[in-house]
Amino acid sequence: MTRSVGPDVPARLVDHHAHSVVRDIADRPSLERFLTESGEPPPEGCSHFDSFLGAAMLRTCAPVLDLPPGASADEYVARRTELGGEAANQRLLRSAGVAEVLVDHGYRGQELVGLHELAELAATRVRRIVRLEQLAEAVAANGVAPSRFAEALEERLAAELSGPDAAVGCKSVLAYRYGLDVDPAEPRPHEVRDAAEEWLSAGAALRLSHPVLLRHLVWAGLRSGVPLQFHTGYGDADLELHRSNPALLTGLIRQAAPLGTPIMLLHCYPYHREAAYLASAYPHVYFDVGLAINYVGHRAAAVLAEAIESAPFHKMLYSSDGFGLAELHLLAAVTFRSAVASVLDPLVVREARNPDEVAAAAAMIGAGNARRVYNLPSDG
Ligand SMILES: [Zn+2]
Repeated sequence: MTRSVGPDVPARLVDHHAHSVVRDIADRPSLERFLTESGEPPPEGCSHFDSFLGAAMLRTCAPVLDLPPGASADEYVARRTELGGEAANQRLLRSAGVAEVLVDHGYRGQELVGLHELAELAATRVRRIVRLEQLAEAVAANGVAPSRFAEALEERLAAELSGPDAAVGCKSVLAYRYGLDVDPAEPRPHEVRDAAEEWLSAGAALRLSHPVLLRHLVWAGLRSGVPLQFHTGYGDADLELHRSNPALLTGLIRQAAPLGTPIMLLHCYPYHREAAYLASAYPHVYFDVGLAINYVGHRAAAVLAEAIESAPFHKMLYSSDGFGLAELHLLAAVTFRSAVASVLDPLVVREARNPDEVAAAAAMIGAGNARRVYNLPSDG
């Protein structure tokens, strides 16, 4: 007898890329701003709920707040307000079934609850990812001579990666700050010094976008040995989408291969097939389709199928990219589990694979790959 992969496999996910949540939502517009990458309100008379994301969010999250799945957006916001931010966040986050979250707190972190509070709200283990550009900007803000910049950055990064609260990975937002079509070569020390001089002499404008320094950060991350995440694909309106295609990293991936540092391609959509190719071609490359699975709502299984169709199961990870709204953490987890189950099910039904073997593949994608690559102790 054949049986399909249960939708509860894996039971406890590891979310390898997410952000924290806001403490509370004041009203419907302040909730809706998290349902779009545009950062802008919808046109007059329209709503960001009018999307696959909005529909999937209401269907998934309304019952967690004791409403029917068909509740309207207004009913949902009213009920959320009645419960209060803390209770709503707890219910939504704890319903996600996530064992562990790796959080990038370097983007608008001051608007979101701290990582300790997030761990309490979600009743989950939270670990840090260091955002390299933010680290470099902090080094600059502290005041550093251009000739000392590389050394100061290295010391700061080493400190972030050590001790009981050590970060478990680094992240690069090269795609936002320049584009992934950067020269892949590691810059030489004198180039870094000259670039630091140019950047630091600009004074107040400390947002780092100098391509030589961005490359230096990438290589510092690669040399640190912990997995290095790259934002690729889909993102907010700062991005030049065509310059975020992960295939643009091919030269860097090849040059970095001897180091063996895992390269984690985040989001990837709509270039998830390119990412799947890179992950299958290069032993140190991994990928996910986080963010997209929320935005595409009930189409998530189709996107996941396109991503996994050519990649080995040991190369894909789960991420929610939940930002701001606890709902996005829950929706991603629910959507991901159901998409994985429906995508892997044909292995049992059509390909005569053992259901336990297929469930093990689902567990690998949902949790095991992240535990192995980030060297996280097993759940328990
Ligand atoms: Zn993110």
